[in-house]
Amino acid sequence: MTYRVVCVKILVIGGGGREHAICHALSLDESVTALFCAPGNPGIAAVARVREVDPLDPAAVARLAGDLGADLVIVGPEAPLVAGVADAVRAAGIAVFGPSKAAARLEGSKAFSKEIMAAAEVPTAEAFVCSTPEEAARALDAFGPPYVVKDDALAAGKGVVVTSDRDAALAHAKACGRVVIEEFLDGPEVSLFAVTDGTTVLPLQPAQDFKRVGDDDSGPNTGGMGAYSPLPWAPEGLVDEVLDRVLQPTVDELRRLGTPIAGLLYAGLALTKRGIRVIEFNARFGDPETQVVLPLLMTPLAQLLHHAATGTLAEAEPLRWHSSAAVTVVLAASGYPATPRSDDSITGIERAEATGAVTVYQAGTALNAEGDLITSGGRVLAVTGRAADLESARDLAYAALAEIKLTGGHHRTDIAAKAIAGAIDAP
Ligand code: AMP
Repeated sequence: MTYRVVCVKILVIGGGGREHAICHALSLDESVTALFCAPGNPGIAAVARVREVDPLDPAAVARLAGDLGADLVIVGPEAPLVAGVADAVRAAGIAVFGPSKAAARLEGSKAFSKEIMAAAEVPTAEAFVCSTPEEAARALDAFGPPYVVKDDALAAGKGVVVTSDRDAALAHAKACGRVVIEEFLDGPEVSLFAVTDGTTVLPLQPAQDFKRVGDDDSGPNTGGMGAYSPLPWAPEGLVDEVLDRVLQPTVDELRRLGTPIAGLLYAGLALTKRGIRVIEFNARFGDPETQVVLPLLMTPLAQLLHHAATGTLAEAEPLRWHSSAAVTVVLAASGYPATPRSDDSITGIERAEATGAVTVYQAGTALNAEGDLITSGGRVLAVTGRAADLESARDLAYAALAEIKLTGGHHRTDIAAKAIAGAIDAP
């Protein structure tokens, strides 16, 4: 069945590359009559009207949405969700794409997410929740190396240490306080997003991201250095299996608990020899996977998210996808991830976008007093190429990236390379 939202005024909360990709996709949906983003960034300002707001202040966000007459609020990042922004907007009678504070604990607390998975019989790594160094030491020795130590609190994808160095693992556990220590999952990783209204679940197309800062997965974890979609190596039936064994049971369990999740459920998965395992759940679109998944989605985005926000996802039309492929490469600031440097000048974005089917999504950018674009965060740009196949999309992304000048900027050179070379073996 198709059902068209007549027109929607939308407010997007956030100001990173993910929100740029969301706003860009919304700007292509003719049902959107007005598009606002707060706080936004200079790139987003080209496709949406930017407003100021503290995204962590639920009352301020609800007030802004009311003042703008928004029909739909889309919350991009995790921190506002965990702060209760979606609850405040919903209480003001405005539809919101983004889970309640209670449901966002699925991302905000690794321990809560493990409890939900146990109750819903979702396959995941075996784990211990540890609150003291002694408990942590016992858990590390129970699993052996490589060690996986996760901060229980929200850490923007950076609270996880995977290492074979026991001292480093223990030091991370001590620094965090409460941690989840779990078995190491071996096998290719998949990011699968699903749009849900708390009952119906619609999976999007899978992607793969690159968490480590350096080529060949060297160096520390980051928020993500690149991504591609689709996954030519993914086993047939993967999405259906994840829907049946992971996404639907999790959504059903949260509803059963009285904390339904309306928004995006993101499953980070490992395809191990013993089957699929959930590495983590997030309660929002992933960054930078959004920068490859949304450009491939043909279905108008505003209508889809409006259905999810209003409990009518069962009425949404089946998703339609471009048959092409997308690759995104993140350009990071000097010193990222440890100490990203601000105020470096960024030039060449227009030239980069002129190289073909390329979109440069902005994340850690700002304008200086002279109106020039400068860095203001660790991950500065995500450069997405879209083409008939992965190899051409990758070539486009890297050719575009070569046009951009950023002092001290760095990026990985191997995004999607293994997939193109046929070097990923899914079990
Ligand atoms: P998370 O924040 O839980 O997604 O973890 C960040 C990254 O750490 C993941 O994308 C994986 O690359 C890695 N990781 C997390 N948990 C595990 C695990 N149990 N086994 C292997 N790698 C893991």
